[in-house]
Amino acid sequence: MPARLPPERALPAGQEEAPHPPAARDPAWIEAALDVSDSAIILTDGLRRICYVNAGFTRMFGFTAAEVLGRMPSEVLLGPDAEPAQKDTIHHGLRTWGQVRCEALIYGRSGQPRWVSMVINRPPGPQPDPLANTTTVLSDITLTKMHEVLQKKVLEGMVHELPLQELMLLVCTEVERIAPEVTATILSVDDDGRVHPLAAPRMPAFVSAAIDGLSIGPCTGSCGTAAWRGEPVLVTDIQSDPLWADYRALFAPTGLKTCWSSPIKTHQGKVIGTFAFYFHASRIPDAFHQRLVEVCVHLCEIAMERDATRKRVHQLAYYDVLTGLPNRTMFKASSEQTLTRLREDGRSAALLFIDLDRFKRVNDSQGHAAGDALLCEVARRLTSQLGSQDLAGRLAGDEFGVLLRVDDATQAVRSAERILQTLGQPVQVLGQTQLQQASIGIALFPADGADIDTLLRHADQAMYQAKSDNRHGVQLFRSEMNLRTQARAALEQALRQALDARSLTLHYQPQLMAGPAHTLYGVEALARWQHPEWGPIPPDQFIPVAEETGLIGPLTDWLVEEACGQLLRWRQAGLSVPHMAINLSARSFHEPDFANHLEATLRRLGLAPSDIVLEITESVMMDAHQSTLHNIDKLHAQGFCLSLDDFGTGYSSLSYLHRLPISELKLDKSFVQDLAGSPAARALIQSVMSIARSLDMVVVAEGVETISQQEWLENCGCPVLQGYLFSRPLTPQALRDWMELRDSSGAG
Ligand code: C2E
Ligand code: CA
Ligand code: CA
Repeated sequence: MPARLPPERALPAGQEEAPHPPAARDPAWIEAALDVSDSAIILTDGLRRICYVNAGFTRMFGFTAAEVLGRMPSEVLLGPDAEPAQKDTIHHGLRTWGQVRCEALIYGRSGQPRWVSMVINRPPGPQPDPLANTTTVLSDITLTKMHEVLQKKVLEGMVHELPLQELMLLVCTEVERIAPEVTATILSVDDDGRVHPLAAPRMPAFVSAAIDGLSIGPCTGSCGTAAWRGEPVLVTDIQSDPLWADYRALFAPTGLKTCWSSPIKTHQGKVIGTFAFYFHASRIPDAFHQRLVEVCVHLCEIAMERDATRKRVHQLAYYDVLTGLPNRTMFKASSEQTLTRLREDGRSAALLFIDLDRFKRVNDSQGHAAGDALLCEVARRLTSQLGSQDLAGRLAGDEFGVLLRVDDATQAVRSAERILQTLGQPVQVLGQTQLQQASIGIALFPADGADIDTLLRHADQAMYQAKSDNRHGVQLFRSEMNLRTQARAALEQALRQALDARSLTLHYQPQLMAGPAHTLYGVEALARWQHPEWGPIPPDQFIPVAEETGLIGPLTDWLVEEACGQLLRWRQAGLSVPHMAINLSARSFHEPDFANHLEATLRRLGLAPSDIVLEITESVMMDAHQSTLHNIDKLHAQGFCLSLDDFGTGYSSLSYLHRLPISELKLDKSFVQDLAGSPAARALIQSVMSIARSLDMVVVAEGVETISQQEWLENCGCPVLQGYLFSRPLTPQALRDWMELRDSSGAG
């Protein structure tokens, strides 16, 4: 019988120095030394029966020596559920090599499984029974093995893209298999601090259902409190602990007494879930449980964080970051699904294409932060108008799509008008009150299109019509609108060809100094396009198309070359044209190198910047694009004269004028034309004159058509006049004739 000796007797005092202490050969000393080992050691006799186990064996499996001596090791350790193959493997190994090394799952006295690494040896040389007289050393590798098994299963699950809930269920069931006394639960904690059960296989369903959606807090059971505190919470008596006051009754039928919950955190430390062990006994978890929890929490962290990242990637790919609405891709996909269902049910719907009016202006004048805030507010208002079956998405910049369940066109129009009205309410943007109008085009399903692409295209065309008709309105799609878009596409195509063929031309309109002599101040170059079949196309029509399609770049290049070349030709012919005014589009100023490019062109042609006046509109001045300001400053520094075109129609803010490098104001023709009938127009012109004078700017009045307009403007001190009264825009030859005629008639 193995006697257990106190370890202090194993090495009597005073013998430490001896190289080979005689006690080392003392069986009692040896036995005591073996008992302190963490490994379990088993010896068998010639009849294969256990004749010795050390104390480590009892600690590991719970069996006392008395309970196992005289029995077969396999009977004790492998248990009734062990795989027969395991025994065969061991026997085969001993017979063949006299040694076996393996890993095995062994059930202890209480039925708790332990993973062990097992080494079995028998005496060397031929034996009457190769399975007898063995020495078995078992080391507990449960934690390592558990870690390995759990980790392998969970990671494999991740590789196979298992949903998070399945992964978490796997963790719980695996843990409950290893530690049968445990009931494991995993909760997620959302951004609003509410918990949601992810896995709780042994917890009654009514408990999980009741927990779902509860808020975390300082006194909300073990899990809610652990999530709130960000640290583990152990409650060993659920029925009396104050932390559980609110949940006692709920848990009473489960008979659970202990709950030990640990927070699951992201690597930045944010709590995203909890992992809990419940016990039916009132107890403190042991080292094994602690290790188990550590492993599980770590795996949960990886799995949940990865899941969150995947959701975020999904969000980024399919949702608009700014407004949180589905993006175009997502909106189209969801709409397509809805349409399929509607088709099956024989029901109808309306696709609304919503476009904000003059949104660019907000962006340009108040900056992108204001534009962003406005878009978010629009998205919020839009969603507030939707029913549970409706869909909304952000299609592009300031365009939104909405798919509404409606029965007919009347209902669709009514809904669209309600949306318009909501969007039209004043908005507070960065401290300023704004009014944002919108236009809505409607295409009906299935009448105007059977698929989402057609519906979007048709609703877009209807919106375009709404916009050009009366601004902020609602328009139903009509089939003839298709033609309009086709015409626009054809216009783009034709313009491309015209630019390639250099078939655009420039006409020049004289600008005259006030006073009896009406000396020529300069000429303004205006683009003209004569299409071989369609006839003359006004610049108001093709310039916007060029701007939208990027053709404005080549168009501007061409017009600068052409206008400058013409100025040179006139000068070479002895005609005195003091300078050439060229209209520039806001788009050109987005080119980072625009100013340099312009200056290089002039230098190449042998002209100076002072020969050219660049007409730009207020939208250029207000453009928040980073290159715009840089180009403006550069052009000014290079000596170009900048002229503010259509002055008075835009922001009408005189206050910012002094901050801009502007030397000329072009008073919009609408004011000139209102002169006679509108005292307000006259007052405005007068104040523009006085401000321009104080800022040393030249005012050019456009659209002067009558002698009375001319007289009033001259009396008011307007220095330069331009308009049909003096001349329409002319071909180069016609301008030459016009000037020669004036010279001969002695006009100036
Ligand atoms: P804008 O720069 O304000 O040009 C003045 C417009 O007023 C011209 O129209 C001109 O023909 C017209 N106009 C001149 N005198 C009178 C008058 O006494 N009465 C009336 N009712 N109109 C008069 P146009 O040529 O049709 O050009 C329209 C607009 O197209 C221009 O307005 C300008 O914004 C744009 N545009 C024209 N050519 C170019 C160009 O080469 N480049 C760019 N970027 N825009 C251009
Ligand atoms: Ca102009
Ligand atoms: Ca103008």
